Amino acid sequence: MSASTISSDLRPSPVAASVDFERDGVQHGHLKLPYSRDDSAWGALMLPIAVVKRGKGPTVLLTGANHGDEYEGPVALFDLARTLVADAVSGRVIILPAMNYPAFRAGTRTSPIDKGNLNRLFPGRPDGTVTQKIADYIQRHLLPLADYVLDIHSGGRTLEFLPFAAAHRLPDAAQEARCVRAMMAFNAPYSMMLRELDAVGTYDTAAEEMGKVFVTTELGGGGTARAETVAIAKRGVRNLLIHAGVLEGEPERSPSSFLDMPDGDCYIGSLGGGLVELAVDLGARLRRGDLVARVHDVERTAGAVAEYRAARDGVLAGRHFPGLVQTGDTLAVIGVPTAAPT
Ligand code: ZN
Repeated sequence: MSASTISSDLRPSPVAASVDFERDGVQHGHLKLPYSRDDSAWGALMLPIAVVKRGKGPTVLLTGANHGDEYEGPVALFDLARTLVADAVSGRVIILPAMNYPAFRAGTRTSPIDKGNLNRLFPGRPDGTVTQKIADYIQRHLLPLADYVLDIHSGGRTLEFLPFAAAHRLPDAAQEARCVRAMMAFNAPYSMMLRELDAVGTYDTAAEEMGKVFVTTELGGGGTARAETVAIAKRGVRNLLIHAGVLEGEPERSPSSFLDMPDGDCYIGSLGGGLVELAVDLGARLRRGDLVARVHDVERTAGAVAEYRAARDGVLAGRHFPGLVQTGDTLAVIGVPTAAPT
């Protein structure tokens, strides 16, 4: 490690919070990140944040728009921030409805400022790009405060999922069990042991490596939010706050189907570009060898059709959303129904 790297790691974050995380009551404020640019020489990005605290108790960190084109999180969390009262809380709720705020305002997955994908840039850098600075602040100033972390994703503009909450397989079995219990408490229609394609640099990994109880979701997609998926997000947030002991009351429970992703065969990637024809819709049962999608050559009428088949039994849990696909895109994700852990 070079000397410059070491000093960078110790540099304070340029982000200033206008809320006091130790104060009781409801506070609405901003994380202010200086951002000097052509249209604002001494300007700043202002990320909305709310803190609701009463006395001692666990801290739950709730985040949305880690990717800027996923909307269930921001809808549920802006709503919660406006309505949660301190008297209802035992402990602390930190609400950051739009983590990658520039991406959220642009309606894009990554930041329009530096093309930063926040969920690949943890632990971030205090002296890096705008997105790296957001990651660094969350890594060093928000995650350490939390006992429970819920990060609400959906598929964004290019993917669509069955609505599921997810946990990951972890080296620490006791921590994994705590995460699975919290995922089940969220109580989405599906609960997934998620095998990530690319876990390096994710917020998930950052939180899990700190020992936090971490739950993520994929609640829909297509670059919008539906009434059903927003309702799942709102209900899941409340259920998780009750599970953590921060809110009192009875959780709203309904059946949740447990899905596993035992290996990389659960992902079907496109080997060529073209026009997608899905053979089945989300939730469909698949047998190994079943046709999942066809991709048509669009450069000639007599072109080939590529067929993509299920490599294992399961259900279609995720799909490519746009009508056109490029080489390397994820076409489909298969989840394998299994018994829920007891
Ligand atoms: Zn996402």
